[in-house]
Amino acid sequence: MSICENISKIKSVIPKDVTLIAVSKTHPPETIKEAYNCGQRIFGENKVQELCDKAVKLPPDIQWHLIGHLQSNKVKYIAPFVSLIHSVDSLKLLQEIDKQAKKCNRIIPVLLQIHIAEEETKFGLSPAEAEDILISHASHQLQNIKISGLMGMATNTEDEIKIRSEFKSLKKLFDYFKIQFPDSGNIKLEILSMGMSSDFEIAVEEGSNMLRIGSTIFGNRHYA
Ligand SMILES: *Cc1c(COP(=O)(O)O)cnc(C)c1O
Repeated sequence: MSICENISKIKSVIPKDVTLIAVSKTHPPETIKEAYNCGQRIFGENKVQELCDKAVKLPPDIQWHLIGHLQSNKVKYIAPFVSLIHSVDSLKLLQEIDKQAKKCNRIIPVLLQIHIAEEETKFGLSPAEAEDILISHASHQLQNIKISGLMGMATNTEDEIKIRSEFKSLKKLFDYFKIQFPDSGNIKLEILSMGMSSDFEIAVEEGSNMLRIGSTIFGNRHYA
């Protein structure tokens, strides 16, 4: 199947109001251009260097999302153009994003990444840590970021019951935060980014409105 067919197939099984991020990490600009030519405009990358290298080679109306772990010292490279950062996992990182966004005279939307999986290795905040950030006076002062929602990754397992319960818990946290932190200042919680190739149907059933899908669109990744 072609990239266009893969995208159409995914779109045919998800609701219209669910945003599809094409995760293009490891794939070259020509491959991304193929997806672009089928109308896809939002792409996700997990590395800053790779994201920047591709962005300069591809059309300027692409919206680039950073979905992988972000180090504070690299924020400056993506601040001028990134559309959404999914992986905020500390107040310090949030402050750095704000600082760099200010230099670019923009407001950068971000998601707080919540650790929902069993694996130790996955980055992210605990629900309590995320709540501390949302409550903190320090975060309320940041005028060049907008906290737009939450992101999470389920455990990499075949166990659908486990995946579903992890997504359920993230949706529950999202709903709780929306009540605790109604729109004001730099907080406007509207995006719930959960679901990848292996689990996006479950994620949609559990309330996701943003999917990050790579291999189902582009095929398997080959790491150099
Ligand atoms: C690679 C990646 C994805 C997409 O993974 P696929 O299984 O290829 O769909 C989604 N989210 C994050 C954070 C990733 O790093």
